[in-house]
Amino acid sequence: MTLSMNTPEFLVERDLDRCIKCQVCVGQCANEVHKYDKETDSLSCDDLACVGCHRCVTLCPTHALTIKKFPLEFRENANWTANTINAIYKQAESGGILLTGMGNDKPYPIYWDHLLLNASQVTNPSIDPLREPMEVKTYLGRKPDKLDFSDGELVTEIAPQVELELPIMFSAMSFGSISLNAVKSLAAAAKEVGTMFNTGEGGLHQDLYSYGDNAIVQVASGRFGVHPQQPVLDANGVVGQVIRSLPFSSEIMLITDPNHAIPVQVNRNGLLTIAVGSGQMNRLNLPFLPNNADIRTGDLLITSGLGGTFPQGYPVAVVDQFTPEPSKPFASITATPKAMLDRNRELLIVWSNTNPIPLTSEATANDKKTETPTHE
Ligand code: SF4
Ligand code: SF4
Repeated sequence: MTLSMNTPEFLVERDLDRCIKCQVCVGQCANEVHKYDKETDSLSCDDLACVGCHRCVTLCPTHALTIKKFPLEFRENANWTANTINAIYKQAESGGILLTGMGNDKPYPIYWDHLLLNASQVTNPSIDPLREPMEVKTYLGRKPDKLDFSDGELVTEIAPQVELELPIMFSAMSFGSISLNAVKSLAAAAKEVGTMFNTGEGGLHQDLYSYGDNAIVQVASGRFGVHPQQPVLDANGVVGQVIRSLPFSSEIMLITDPNHAIPVQVNRNGLLTIAVGSGQMNRLNLPFLPNNADIRTGDLLITSGLGGTFPQGYPVAVVDQFTPEPSKPFASITATPKAMLDRNRELLIVWSNTNPIPLTSEATANDKKTETPTHE
């Protein structure tokens, strides 16, 4: 038995004078706290697994069960409270992040309940003493450091922004955790008031497709096995690769990022090269091909599979410009990515099979074994 520093949160007590050994608690506890031993005709319980949901208490026909807080004391310390110590024990033993249902279970300030929107007399004198118009539209997204204008026109490229009619969003809750109807209600409310709901990690149910403009769809994260270097695709081609996998989200580096390079080949003739990100969303550079390289505008570039990160044969980009540079060793070649990098809603993350493919397939080997001579 492994020694554990974790102690139960709850103590499950059974009043043996009341218990009629009906085993309802055994069948009803989802955490398998209650056990019935046929040989000794007795019941026992594993307090450590109890989460204090009270299901067994409610369903016990004789009210024989009581759930109490486990009465274990720690040496008093204002910094190292029992909660903190227990949380450290749990995380050290499980190696995981502690998760709770129903939001944060710590007594942190809840600002929401204390918000006061005093919108009276936004203008002075008021336009309408009862219905003063007030715009609280909010834009989320990367903002430029400065704005450049030319002839009075804005020329700075603004990164995509999420527009919210009011500065409130619904937090992430999957339909698996709160029911599909509840998520549909949130989606409908988000659409009505002009804000966003969040699918959580449970995926996007097709009933929610019509709320797409108001949806934040979470991609699978480290908790589902996403790991750095995994290729990411859309329906048209390669998007990039995972560079960071966090517990609740993952980050992708696009193929157009200046720090990204992807081994490609020309689909027409197999010519190998490297496509490097240009920093522009719709442009890749091919800086390593000589002036006499057999490459033309309109050539499709696909992944070559070299380097091992991207599987071979996926569309990457189409060559849109080939300019020989006689005074330089390499030509100037650019390509447009096939993937819709700036308007994707759903992406595909690729898991590769790392098992080596056998040189002779089992089927072939079996065929040979069962082969019977037809002419003797
Ligand atoms: S449900 Fe109640 S009565 Fe039945 S076995 Fe459990 S504790 Fe005993
Ligand atoms: S309170 Fe809930 S978790 Fe605990 S023993 Fe009863 S049913 Fe199981």
